[in-house]
Amino acid sequence: MTDDTTGSLKDLQDIDLRLEQLRSRASEFDPLLAEVEEPSLALEQEVVTLKNRLQEMKVEERRLEHSADDRRARWKKLEERLKSVRNLREEAAVRAEMDLMRQALEGDEQEALTLLDQIRRMEDRLDEQQAALDQAQADVEPRRLQLLEEQKSVMEEYEVLKNKREQYAGLVPVHERQDYERIRGGGRSVAVASLTPDGACGHCFGMIPLQVQNEVRRGATGIACEACGVLLSSGDDLA
Ligand SMILES: [Zn+2]
Repeated sequence: MTDDTTGSLKDLQDIDLRLEQLRSRASEFDPLLAEVEEPSLALEQEVVTLKNRLQEMKVEERRLEHSADDRRARWKKLEERLKSVRNLREEAAVRAEMDLMRQALEGDEQEALTLLDQIRRMEDRLDEQQAALDQAQADVEPRRLQLLEEQKSVMEEYEVLKNKREQYAGLVPVHERQDYERIRGGGRSVAVASLTPDGACGHCFGMIPLQVQNEVRRGATGIACEACGVLLSSGDDLA
C-alpha cells in the first residue's frame, strides 16, 4: 500500500482476487471429501437396510409370540369347558375346536422358530457389515479429518481477509470504489489495471493515448481503458 490514509483500488483488487482464490480453494474440498467417504457409503446403506429388516422381523416374531400366547390361553379355556360338557356331541365339538387350536398354535410356534433362526443369521450378517463399515470409516478417518482441517483453515483465512477487505475498502475514495464495484459487479474479476511503463493498459496491453497516460500518471481517477474497460491507475503502486 502506497499511502496510509488513502486506499488504492489496485490493493483492494489484490485483496478481492485473493478472496476469490480462497473461496474457490474452499469449494475444492467438497468433492475430495465426497470421494473419501464414498466407499463407506454403500456399506452404511447396507447396514441401515439390514437394521430395518431386522427390526421388522423382530416385530413379526413378537406378533407370533403374542398370537401363540393367545391360542394357549384359549386352549386352556377349551380344556376347562371340556369338564362341563353335557353330552358326547358337545365334547366332540370342543375337541374339534381344540384340535384346530393346537394346529394353529403349532403353526405359530414353527413360524416363530424359523423366524428366530433367520433373525440370528441376520444379526450375524449385520455384525459383519457393521465391522466392515467401522473398518472402512477408520481407514479414511485420518484423511477425512485432514481435509476438514485444511478446509477450515482456508475458510478462516477467508473470513479474516474479508474483514480486512471491509476496513480497507473504507479507505478508498467513494467514487473510485463505486466505479470499481460497478465493473466487478458486471462479473469481471479484474476491474483495475496499472499503466505499464511504456504506456499500455496493464490488463489488455492495448496502448493508451499519450494525453490519457499523462492524466492517469498525474493521479486522475475513473479513467477506463477504451479497449477493455478496466480502470487505469498510475503504475506507482505496482511496487
Ligand atoms: Zn485494457
